[in-house]
Amino acid sequence: MKFSLRILIPVLMLIVIGCTPQTPNEENDESEIFVEESYVNEVEELAESAKIKEAMEFIRNMDEETVQNQIAITEIPAPPFQEEVRAERYAEMMQEYGLDQVEIDEEGNVIGKRPGTEGEQTIVISAHLDTVFPERTNVEVEVRNDTLFAPGITDDARGLSVLLALINTLETLDIQSADNIWFMGTVGEEGLGDLRGVKHLFETEGDKIDAFISIDGSRASRIVNKALGSHRYRVTFEGPGGHSWGAFGTANPAHAMGRAITYFEDNASQFVKTGPKTSYNIGRIGGGTSVNSIPFENWMEIDMRSESPDALQQIDGIMQDAIQKALIEANSIKTQGPDLTVDIDMIGNRPSGEIPADVPFVQRALAVSKYFGQVPELTRSSTDANVSISMGIPSMTIGGGGNSGSSHSLDEWWYNEDGYKGVQRAFIILMAETGLAE
Ligand SMILES: [Zn+2]
Repeated sequence: MKFSLRILIPVLMLIVIGCTPQTPNEENDESEIFVEESYVNEVEELAESAKIKEAMEFIRNMDEETVQNQIAITEIPAPPFQEEVRAERYAEMMQEYGLDQVEIDEEGNVIGKRPGTEGEQTIVISAHLDTVFPERTNVEVEVRNDTLFAPGITDDARGLSVLLALINTLETLDIQSADNIWFMGTVGEEGLGDLRGVKHLFETEGDKIDAFISIDGSRASRIVNKALGSHRYRVTFEGPGGHSWGAFGTANPAHAMGRAITYFEDNASQFVKTGPKTSYNIGRIGGGTSVNSIPFENWMEIDMRSESPDALQQIDGIMQDAIQKALIEANSIKTQGPDLTVDIDMIGNRPSGEIPADVPFVQRALAVSKYFGQVPELTRSSTDANVSISMGIPSMTIGGGGNSGSSHSLDEWWYNEDGYKGVQRAFIILMAETGLAE
Protein backbone atom coordinates (compact mmCIF):
# COMPACT_ATOMS: atom_id res chain seq x y z
CA MET A 1 0.00 0.00 0.00
CA LYS A 2 2.73 2.39 1.05
CA PHE A 3 4.78 1.46 -1.98
CA SER A 4 1.99 1.77 -4.53
CA LEU A 5 0.92 5.19 -3.25
CA ARG A 6 4.46 6.48 -3.49
CA ILE A 7 4.50 5.60 -7.16
CA LEU A 8 0.94 6.55 -7.85
CA ILE A 9 1.00 10.08 -6.45
CA PRO A 10 3.87 11.41 -8.61
CA VAL A 11 2.31 9.75 -11.64
CA LEU A 12 -1.04 11.37 -10.91
CA MET A 13 0.67 14.73 -10.37
CA LEU A 14 2.38 14.44 -13.73
CA ILE A 15 -0.90 13.73 -15.43
CA VAL A 16 -2.54 16.71 -13.75
CA ILE A 17 0.33 19.10 -14.52
CA GLY A 18 0.77 17.78 -18.04
CA CYS A 19 -2.69 18.54 -19.36
CA THR A 20 -3.52 22.18 -19.51
CA PRO A 21 -6.86 22.59 -21.19
CA GLN A 22 -6.84 25.36 -23.77
CA THR A 23 -10.14 26.87 -22.78
CA PRO A 24 -10.81 25.55 -19.31
CA ASN A 25 -13.95 27.53 -18.62
CA GLU A 26 -15.66 27.11 -21.87
CA GLU A 27 -18.61 25.15 -23.02
CA ASN A 28 -20.21 25.29 -26.42
CA ASP A 29 -23.83 25.69 -27.19
CA GLU A 30 -24.39 22.76 -29.53
CA SER A 31 -27.83 23.74 -30.69
CA GLU A 32 -28.33 25.42 -34.05
CA ILE A 33 -28.00 29.17 -33.69
CA PHE A 34 -30.63 31.34 -35.28
CA VAL A 35 -29.58 34.51 -37.09
CA GLU A 36 -32.34 36.74 -38.36
CA GLU A 37 -32.18 37.58 -42.05
CA SER A 38 -32.47 41.34 -41.44
CA TYR A 39 -29.19 41.34 -39.47
CA VAL A 40 -27.47 39.26 -42.12
CA ASN A 41 -28.51 41.86 -44.71
CA GLU A 42 -27.58 44.79 -42.49
CA VAL A 43 -24.10 43.42 -41.86
CA GLU A 44 -23.58 42.56 -45.51
CA GLU A 45 -24.53 46.06 -46.58
CA LEU A 46 -22.17 47.57 -44.00
CA ALA A 47 -19.29 45.26 -44.90
CA GLU A 48 -19.68 46.02 -48.60
CA SER A 49 -19.62 49.80 -48.08
CA ALA A 50 -16.59 51.59 -49.51
CA LYS A 51 -15.33 52.79 -46.12
CA ILE A 52 -15.42 49.35 -44.54
CA LYS A 53 -13.85 47.71 -47.58
CA GLU A 54 -11.02 50.19 -47.33
CA ALA A 55 -10.72 49.35 -43.62
CA MET A 56 -10.56 45.61 -44.37
CA GLU A 57 -7.69 46.22 -46.78
CA PHE A 58 -5.90 48.45 -44.26
CA ILE A 59 -6.19 45.84 -41.50
CA ARG A 60 -4.78 43.18 -43.79
CA ASN A 61 -1.86 45.40 -44.73
CA MET A 62 -1.03 46.19 -41.13
CA ASP A 63 -1.01 42.52 -40.11
CA GLU A 64 2.74 42.40 -39.52
CA GLU A 65 2.60 45.53 -37.36
CA THR A 66 -0.23 44.04 -35.30
CA VAL A 67 1.90 40.96 -34.64
CA GLN A 68 4.89 43.13 -33.72
CA ASN A 69 2.69 45.00 -31.22
CA GLN A 70 1.52 41.68 -29.82
CA ILE A 71 5.16 40.68 -29.24
CA ALA A 72 6.11 44.03 -27.72
CA ILE A 73 3.16 43.89 -25.30
CA THR A 74 3.89 40.29 -24.32
CA GLU A 75 7.45 41.22 -23.40
CA ILE A 76 6.33 43.78 -20.82
CA PRO A 77 5.60 41.66 -17.73
CA ALA A 78 2.14 42.17 -16.23
CA PRO A 79 1.77 39.84 -13.22
CA PRO A 80 -1.49 39.94 -11.25
CA PHE A 81 -1.81 43.27 -9.40
CA GLN A 82 1.32 44.57 -11.16
CA GLU A 83 0.04 45.79 -14.49
CA GLU A 84 1.37 49.38 -14.13
CA VAL A 85 4.35 49.23 -16.49
CA ARG A 86 2.39 47.56 -19.24
CA ALA A 87 -0.52 49.94 -18.65
CA GLU A 88 1.69 53.00 -19.08
CA ARG A 89 3.18 51.73 -22.31
CA TYR A 90 -0.23 50.70 -23.57
CA ALA A 91 -1.62 54.18 -22.92
CA GLU A 92 1.28 55.60 -24.95
CA MET A 93 0.61 53.18 -27.81
CA MET A 94 -3.03 54.27 -27.92
CA GLN A 95 -1.84 57.87 -28.18
CA GLU A 96 0.72 57.03 -30.84
CA TYR A 97 -2.12 55.61 -32.92
CA GLY A 98 -4.03 58.84 -32.62
CA LEU A 99 -6.30 58.81 -29.56
CA ASP A 100 -6.08 62.11 -27.62
CA GLN A 101 -8.17 61.32 -24.59
CA VAL A 102 -6.22 58.52 -22.92
CA GLU A 103 -6.08 58.13 -19.18
CA ILE A 104 -5.30 55.55 -16.51
CA ASP A 105 -8.07 55.39 -13.89
CA GLU A 106 -7.69 54.86 -10.10
CA GLU A 107 -7.91 51.09 -10.50
CA GLY A 108 -5.18 51.00 -13.17
CA ASN A 109 -7.34 50.55 -16.29
CA VAL A 110 -6.22 52.31 -19.46
CA ILE A 111 -9.12 54.13 -21.15
CA GLY A 112 -8.90 55.84 -24.52
CA LYS A 113 -12.08 57.67 -25.49
CA ARG A 114 -13.09 58.34 -29.07
CA PRO A 115 -16.24 60.43 -29.34
CA GLY A 116 -18.91 59.55 -31.88
CA THR A 117 -20.60 62.06 -34.15
CA GLU A 118 -23.93 61.54 -32.36
CA GLY A 119 -22.48 60.43 -29.06
CA GLU A 120 -25.77 59.34 -27.53
CA GLN A 121 -24.51 55.86 -26.76
CA THR A 122 -21.17 54.50 -25.64
CA ILE A 123 -19.65 51.14 -26.43
CA VAL A 124 -16.61 49.85 -24.57
CA ILE A 125 -14.20 47.53 -26.38
CA SER A 126 -11.50 46.06 -24.19
CA ALA A 127 -8.74 43.52 -23.67
CA HIS A 128 -7.05 42.65 -20.40
CA LEU A 129 -3.61 43.85 -19.39
CA ASP A 130 -2.86 41.26 -16.70
CA THR A 131 -1.44 37.78 -17.15
CA VAL A 132 -1.54 34.80 -14.78
CA PHE A 133 2.25 34.67 -14.59
CA PRO A 134 4.19 35.73 -11.49
CA GLU A 135 7.04 38.21 -11.36
CA ARG A 136 10.31 37.17 -13.00
CA THR A 137 8.62 34.76 -15.44
CA ASN A 138 10.59 34.84 -18.68
CA VAL A 139 8.25 36.57 -21.12
CA GLU A 140 10.63 36.88 -24.03
CA VAL A 141 8.91 35.76 -27.21
CA GLU A 142 10.56 32.86 -28.97
CA VAL A 143 9.82 32.23 -32.61
CA ARG A 144 10.11 28.59 -33.61
CA ASN A 145 9.34 28.05 -37.26
CA ASP A 146 6.33 30.35 -37.64
CA THR A 147 4.90 29.92 -34.17
CA LEU A 148 5.30 32.48 -31.39
CA PHE A 149 5.94 31.06 -27.93
CA ALA A 150 5.70 33.09 -24.71
CA PRO A 151 3.58 33.19 -21.59
CA GLY A 152 0.71 35.57 -22.36
CA ILE A 153 1.35 35.79 -26.12
CA THR A 154 -2.33 35.07 -26.76
CA ASP A 155 -3.99 35.75 -23.41
CA ASP A 156 -4.30 38.62 -23.76
CA ALA A 157 -1.52 40.29 -25.77
CA ARG A 158 -3.49 39.29 -28.87
CA GLY A 159 -6.57 41.16 -27.67
CA LEU A 160 -4.52 44.23 -26.74
CA SER A 161 -2.81 44.36 -30.14
CA VAL A 162 -6.13 43.91 -31.95
CA LEU A 163 -7.49 46.99 -30.15
CA LEU A 164 -4.51 49.02 -31.35
CA ALA A 165 -5.15 47.85 -34.92
CA LEU A 166 -8.77 49.00 -34.62
CA ILE A 167 -7.68 52.41 -33.35
CA ASN A 168 -5.10 52.76 -36.11
CA THR A 169 -7.67 51.86 -38.77
CA LEU A 170 -10.26 54.33 -37.50
CA GLU A 171 -7.73 57.13 -37.11
CA THR A 172 -5.71 56.66 -40.29
CA LEU A 173 -8.78 56.28 -42.51
CA ASP A 174 -10.63 58.97 -40.56
CA ILE A 175 -13.66 56.77 -40.01
CA GLN A 176 -16.23 58.35 -37.72
CA SER A 177 -18.62 56.28 -35.65
CA ALA A 178 -22.04 57.50 -34.58
CA ASP A 179 -21.64 56.25 -30.98
CA ASN A 180 -18.75 56.93 -28.62
CA ILE A 181 -16.13 54.21 -28.40
CA TRP A 182 -14.01 53.67 -25.30
CA PHE A 183 -10.97 51.52 -25.91
CA MET A 184 -9.77 49.85 -22.74
CA GLY A 185 -6.92 47.82 -21.34
CA THR A 186 -8.34 46.37 -18.12
CA VAL A 187 -6.58 45.17 -14.99
CA GLY A 188 -7.33 42.11 -12.91
CA GLU A 189 -9.18 39.82 -15.32
CA GLU A 190 -7.35 36.69 -14.23
CA GLY A 191 -7.68 34.63 -11.03
CA LEU A 192 -7.60 36.62 -7.82
CA GLY A 193 -7.75 39.84 -9.84
CA ASP A 194 -11.44 38.91 -9.72
CA LEU A 195 -12.41 41.27 -12.57
CA ARG A 196 -11.44 44.28 -10.45
CA GLY A 197 -10.84 46.44 -13.55
CA VAL A 198 -14.28 46.02 -15.10
CA LYS A 199 -15.96 46.00 -11.69
CA HIS A 200 -14.47 49.44 -11.05
CA LEU A 201 -15.50 50.63 -14.52
CA PHE A 202 -19.13 49.61 -14.09
CA GLU A 203 -19.31 50.89 -10.51
CA THR A 204 -18.11 54.33 -11.52
CA GLU A 205 -19.26 54.72 -15.15
CA GLY A 206 -21.77 51.91 -15.64
CA ASP A 207 -24.69 54.27 -16.28
CA LYS A 208 -22.90 55.70 -19.35
CA ILE A 209 -22.15 52.36 -21.00
CA ASP A 210 -24.61 50.80 -23.45
CA ALA A 211 -22.60 47.85 -24.74
CA PHE A 212 -19.38 46.01 -23.95
CA ILE A 213 -17.01 43.86 -25.99
CA SER A 214 -13.97 42.07 -24.62
CA ILE A 215 -11.37 40.59 -26.96
CA ASP A 216 -9.76 37.64 -25.25
CA GLY A 217 -7.91 34.66 -26.65
CA SER A 218 -7.65 33.86 -30.33
CA ARG A 219 -10.49 31.79 -31.74
CA ALA A 220 -12.22 34.24 -33.99
CA SER A 221 -15.48 32.37 -34.44
CA ARG A 222 -16.46 32.34 -30.79
CA ILE A 223 -18.92 34.72 -29.20
CA VAL A 224 -19.23 34.46 -25.43
CA ASN A 225 -22.68 35.78 -24.49
CA LYS A 226 -23.02 33.78 -21.29
CA ALA A 227 -21.08 34.47 -18.13
CA LEU A 228 -19.93 31.64 -15.94
CA GLY A 229 -20.23 32.93 -12.39
CA SER A 230 -18.11 31.79 -9.49
CA HIS A 231 -17.71 32.25 -5.74
CA ARG A 232 -14.37 31.55 -4.14
CA TYR A 233 -13.58 31.33 -0.46
CA ARG A 234 -10.72 30.75 1.88
CA VAL A 235 -12.11 29.17 5.04
CA THR A 236 -9.95 29.04 8.17
CA PHE A 237 -10.75 27.08 11.33
CA GLU A 238 -8.81 28.32 14.36
CA GLY A 239 -8.31 27.04 17.90
CA PRO A 240 -5.75 27.11 20.71
CA GLY A 241 -3.77 24.10 19.41
CA GLY A 242 -1.62 22.01 21.74
CA HIS A 243 0.16 18.73 22.34
CA SER A 244 -1.58 15.75 20.77
CA TRP A 245 -1.27 13.76 24.03
CA GLY A 246 -0.91 16.40 26.69
CA ALA A 247 -3.72 18.66 25.42
CA PHE A 248 -5.91 15.88 24.10
CA GLY A 249 -9.55 16.95 24.12
CA THR A 250 -8.80 20.45 22.87
CA ALA A 251 -10.98 21.32 19.87
CA ASN A 252 -9.22 20.31 16.66
CA PRO A 253 -9.55 22.56 13.57
CA ALA A 254 -8.45 19.78 11.20
CA HIS A 255 -11.18 17.48 12.47
CA ALA A 256 -13.72 20.28 12.15
CA MET A 257 -12.62 20.99 8.61
CA GLY A 258 -12.94 17.31 7.70
CA ARG A 259 -16.51 17.36 8.92
CA ALA A 260 -17.23 20.54 6.99
CA ILE A 261 -15.91 18.99 3.77
CA THR A 262 -18.00 15.85 4.27
CA TYR A 263 -21.22 17.75 5.00
CA PHE A 264 -20.59 20.10 2.10
CA GLU A 265 -19.95 17.32 -0.39
CA ASP A 266 -22.85 15.18 0.85
CA ASN A 267 -25.34 17.97 0.20
CA ALA A 268 -23.64 19.67 -2.74
CA SER A 269 -23.35 16.42 -4.71
CA GLN A 270 -27.12 15.96 -4.39
CA PHE A 271 -27.82 19.58 -5.25
CA VAL A 272 -25.86 19.60 -8.54
CA LYS A 273 -27.61 16.51 -9.88
CA THR A 274 -30.48 18.61 -11.21
CA GLY A 275 -30.97 22.14 -12.48
CA PRO A 276 -28.48 24.43 -14.22
CA LYS A 277 -24.89 23.17 -14.42
CA THR A 278 -23.13 23.91 -11.15
CA SER A 279 -19.75 22.76 -9.87
CA TYR A 280 -17.77 22.84 -6.64
CA ASN A 281 -14.17 22.15 -5.78
CA ILE A 282 -12.00 22.30 -2.70
CA GLY A 283 -8.74 23.07 -4.45
CA ARG A 284 -6.31 23.46 -1.59
CA ILE A 285 -6.18 22.57 2.08
CA GLY A 286 -3.44 23.30 4.57
CA GLY A 287 -2.41 24.15 8.09
CA GLY A 288 -1.11 22.32 11.13
CA THR A 289 2.31 22.17 12.75
CA SER A 290 3.34 18.54 13.15
CA VAL A 291 1.90 15.06 13.41
CA ASN A 292 1.93 15.23 17.21
CA SER A 293 0.39 18.71 17.55
CA ILE A 294 -3.27 19.67 17.62
CA PRO A 295 -3.31 22.35 14.90
CA PHE A 296 -4.09 25.93 15.85
CA GLU A 297 -5.19 26.59 12.29
CA ASN A 298 -6.43 24.74 9.21
CA TRP A 299 -7.63 26.30 6.00
CA MET A 300 -9.18 25.34 2.67
CA GLU A 301 -9.88 27.12 -0.61
CA ILE A 302 -13.20 26.50 -2.31
CA ASP A 303 -14.34 27.33 -5.84
CA MET A 304 -18.00 27.08 -6.84
CA ARG A 305 -19.39 27.89 -10.27
CA SER A 306 -22.77 27.98 -11.88
CA GLU A 307 -24.57 29.06 -15.02
CA SER A 308 -27.30 30.42 -12.80
CA PRO A 309 -26.91 33.18 -10.18
CA ASP A 310 -29.63 31.48 -8.12
CA ALA A 311 -27.95 28.09 -8.09
CA LEU A 312 -24.63 29.75 -7.25
CA GLN A 313 -26.25 31.42 -4.26
CA GLN A 314 -27.77 28.12 -3.20
CA ILE A 315 -24.59 26.08 -3.35
CA ASP A 316 -22.87 28.89 -1.49
CA GLY A 317 -25.53 28.48 1.21
CA ILE A 318 -24.91 24.73 1.34
CA MET A 319 -21.23 25.44 1.97
CA GLN A 320 -21.96 28.00 4.68
CA ASP A 321 -24.36 25.60 6.44
CA ALA A 322 -21.85 22.74 6.30
CA ILE A 323 -19.19 24.90 7.93
CA GLN A 324 -21.48 26.10 10.72
CA LYS A 325 -22.73 22.57 11.40
CA ALA A 326 -19.15 21.26 11.55
CA LEU A 327 -18.11 24.08 13.86
CA ILE A 328 -20.95 23.43 16.30
CA GLU A 329 -20.27 19.71 16.38
CA ALA A 330 -16.52 20.10 16.77
CA ASN A 331 -17.08 22.43 19.70
CA SER A 332 -19.51 20.00 21.31
CA ILE A 333 -16.98 17.17 21.05
CA LYS A 334 -14.08 18.97 22.74
CA THR A 335 -13.54 18.24 26.44
CA GLN A 336 -11.29 21.14 27.32
CA GLY A 337 -10.19 24.62 26.26
CA PRO A 338 -11.91 27.36 24.27
CA ASP A 339 -14.18 26.90 21.26
CA LEU A 340 -12.96 26.84 17.68
CA THR A 341 -13.77 29.82 15.50
CA VAL A 342 -14.09 30.00 11.75
CA ASP A 343 -13.24 32.75 9.33
CA ILE A 344 -14.97 32.62 5.94
CA ASP A 345 -13.18 34.97 3.57
CA MET A 346 -14.58 35.53 0.09
CA ILE A 347 -11.61 35.74 -2.29
CA GLY A 348 -13.51 35.73 -5.58
CA ASN A 349 -16.94 36.73 -6.80
CA ARG A 350 -17.67 36.63 -10.50
CA PRO A 351 -21.29 37.20 -11.42
CA SER A 352 -23.08 34.98 -13.91
CA GLY A 353 -25.81 35.69 -16.43
CA GLU A 354 -26.66 35.58 -20.08
CA ILE A 355 -27.39 37.99 -22.92
CA PRO A 356 -30.07 36.24 -24.97
CA ALA A 357 -29.09 35.24 -28.50
CA ASP A 358 -31.95 37.27 -30.01
CA VAL A 359 -30.71 40.62 -28.66
CA PRO A 360 -29.70 42.80 -31.67
CA PHE A 361 -26.11 43.20 -30.39
CA VAL A 362 -25.64 39.41 -30.37
CA GLN A 363 -27.56 38.95 -33.63
CA ARG A 364 -25.31 41.44 -35.43
CA ALA A 365 -22.17 39.70 -34.16
CA LEU A 366 -23.55 36.33 -35.27
CA ALA A 367 -24.34 37.83 -38.66
CA VAL A 368 -20.72 39.01 -38.87
CA SER A 369 -19.57 35.44 -38.19
CA LYS A 370 -21.76 34.31 -41.06
CA TYR A 371 -20.37 37.03 -43.29
CA PHE A 372 -16.89 35.59 -42.65
CA GLY A 373 -18.15 32.13 -43.55
CA GLN A 374 -17.92 30.86 -39.98
CA VAL A 375 -20.42 28.68 -38.20
CA PRO A 376 -21.89 31.03 -35.57
CA GLU A 377 -20.84 29.86 -32.13
CA LEU A 378 -22.17 30.96 -28.74
CA THR A 379 -20.35 29.95 -25.58
CA ARG A 380 -20.24 30.44 -21.84
CA SER A 381 -17.04 31.49 -20.16
CA SER A 382 -15.60 33.48 -17.29
CA THR A 383 -14.28 36.74 -18.78
CA ASP A 384 -14.29 40.50 -18.33
CA ALA A 385 -17.79 40.49 -19.85
CA ASN A 386 -19.21 38.71 -16.77
CA VAL A 387 -19.85 41.95 -14.94
CA SER A 388 -21.83 43.75 -17.63
CA ILE A 389 -23.60 40.54 -18.70
CA SER A 390 -24.83 40.14 -15.12
CA MET A 391 -26.11 43.74 -15.26
CA GLY A 392 -28.06 42.98 -18.45
CA ILE A 393 -25.92 45.33 -20.57
CA PRO A 394 -25.46 43.85 -24.07
CA SER A 395 -22.00 42.33 -23.80
CA MET A 396 -19.81 39.67 -25.30
CA THR A 397 -16.29 38.33 -25.46
CA ILE A 398 -14.81 37.48 -28.84
CA GLY A 399 -11.49 36.04 -30.00
CA GLY A 400 -8.76 38.13 -31.62
CA GLY A 401 -7.80 35.83 -34.48
CA GLY A 402 -5.06 33.34 -35.26
CA ASN A 403 -4.56 29.96 -33.70
CA SER A 404 -3.30 29.30 -30.19
CA GLY A 405 -2.83 26.82 -27.40
CA SER A 406 -1.47 26.02 -23.93
CA SER A 407 -2.88 29.22 -22.48
CA HIS A 408 -1.99 29.91 -18.82
CA SER A 409 1.13 27.77 -19.23
CA LEU A 410 4.76 28.61 -19.93
CA ASP A 411 4.37 26.95 -23.36
CA GLU A 412 1.60 29.26 -24.49
CA TRP A 413 1.75 29.72 -28.26
CA TRP A 414 0.14 31.72 -31.04
CA TYR A 415 0.26 31.07 -34.75
CA ASN A 416 -0.66 33.64 -37.36
CA GLU A 417 -3.26 31.63 -39.23
CA ASP A 418 -5.28 34.36 -40.93
CA GLY A 419 -4.90 36.45 -37.79
CA TYR A 420 -5.97 39.60 -39.64
CA LYS A 421 -9.42 38.09 -40.15
CA GLY A 422 -9.92 38.22 -36.39
CA VAL A 423 -9.17 41.95 -36.50
CA GLN A 424 -11.47 42.47 -39.47
CA ARG A 425 -14.24 40.62 -37.72
CA ALA A 426 -13.81 42.64 -34.53
CA PHE A 427 -13.85 45.82 -36.61
CA ILE A 428 -17.14 44.98 -38.33
CA ILE A 429 -18.76 43.84 -35.07
CA LEU A 430 -17.72 47.14 -33.52
CA MET A 431 -18.93 49.26 -36.45
CA ALA A 432 -22.19 47.30 -36.76
CA GLU A 433 -22.94 48.24 -33.18
CA THR A 434 -21.75 51.85 -33.16
CA GLY A 435 -22.91 52.67 -36.66
CA LEU A 436 -20.92 54.53 -39.31
CA ALA A 437 -21.47 58.28 -39.23
CA GLU A 438 -23.41 59.50 -42.27
ZN1 LIG B 1 -7.75 36.17 -20.96
